[in-house]
Amino acid sequence: MNTTRPLPAHDVTRCGHPEPVRPAEDNLFLSAPIPILIEDWSRIYRAIKNLQASGITSIDSYFDEHPEAVSQLRALHSFVDANDAVVSLFEAQSRDQFFERVKVLLPADRISNSAVFRAMFENKTACQGERTLVTFAGRTVPIVWRCSLPKDEEGYRRLHFYAFDVTEQKENSDRLEAMRAEMARASRVSLFGEVSASILHEISQPLSATRASADASLRWLTRDTPDVGEAVAAIRDAARWARDASEICRKIRGFVGKVPVQSVLFPAVESVNAALFLISPEANAKEIRVVSDADPQVHVFADPLQIQQVLANLLLNGIHAIDSGPSSGRTLAVTVKAGANEIVFEVRDSGPGIDPARIDALFQPFFTTKADGMGMGLPVARSIVEAHGGHIWAHSEPGSGTCFGFTLPTCSGSSQLTG
Ligand code: ADP
Repeated sequence: MNTTRPLPAHDVTRCGHPEPVRPAEDNLFLSAPIPILIEDWSRIYRAIKNLQASGITSIDSYFDEHPEAVSQLRALHSFVDANDAVVSLFEAQSRDQFFERVKVLLPADRISNSAVFRAMFENKTACQGERTLVTFAGRTVPIVWRCSLPKDEEGYRRLHFYAFDVTEQKENSDRLEAMRAEMARASRVSLFGEVSASILHEISQPLSATRASADASLRWLTRDTPDVGEAVAAIRDAARWARDASEICRKIRGFVGKVPVQSVLFPAVESVNAALFLISPEANAKEIRVVSDADPQVHVFADPLQIQQVLANLLLNGIHAIDSGPSSGRTLAVTVKAGANEIVFEVRDSGPGIDPARIDALFQPFFTTKADGMGMGLPVARSIVEAHGGHIWAHSEPGSGTCFGFTLPTCSGSSQLTG
């Protein structure tokens, strides 16, 4: 790769020589708060245009057929200048130190480089991409870069690349993904709780059969002429039905038993923030304003993950409701208040509201009005809240939104910890 820098007259002098005095606009460039790297892509531009002139119509197919072309093209490029923010981004001591190692610090990157080649080929006016840098201190920094593309070869002599450190966003999205996976697991567990209730319901069938067989055997034995053979057969049936029922119960208990509720005393705002973090991408995408009012001093005695799950569920339902029809204000609000002996959570939305006649049905398993709904969110929320010793309710006036509320105890005993 050619890293000889065709420095313009006013460019930096490196390798131990003092930097020349730069014009004022250069000082603005140097001190800009965004890392800006200037590179010369004019020779690449010419090569790309030659490819186009030779009849190549798809640069991607061309790269597929000639994978070596990417690094050959990239070798035609050189670094020109970098501002102070680039030096800090790479945690270099100085611009000289940065340029001594620039070739190693910014090696050819097929995906990132191809984004520029493709944009040039398609005469785009800007392009952007992502790559990961390794700093002088050995830190890995994910960045998003962006540059405007000029119209002529001359402009390509000083292509400005603006870099944005996206470490925080990347960490947030990794955290979000981990939380979503954990939520999905927790939801499966809670869902299983509900489903097992239905299975237990099914078990009443073998239990009834057991009883019927036992009754039949009694009848065979208490006849004027007892029929021991029939009685034995009926008792065998009863034993078989009973074995089936207890086997089903054992399996369910074994599974559910692995998931104890882990209650701890913690600030309610933590579950609120975690739930808000989870639903914020969806709220942002649907342009819904989310406000929260939770006193950081209010503590609850509960399983934080399960409470987060209840809140995320109510908030998501609120988002879906707001998005489903006319909404005054597109606002979702979550509040946490300390009551006399309990903590009250409320999630209020500005959606179309619910017909009061339907309120009771909401908490029944499989009640849904959504095409892709399961109708298990609210039953699961109710079973979690009730398992914590609280209760859950909904209040709505059609046209003026819905408010879901639930309570949780403040601590395992009766004393309150509300600061
Ligand atoms: P799902 O979201 O899969 O439908 P839920 O049990 O979470 O399951 O909700 C059941 C139903 O309750 C929803 O389909 C919807 O009709 C109604 N519902 C829940 N929350 C709201 C709300 N905030 N506003 C209006 N309707 C709601």
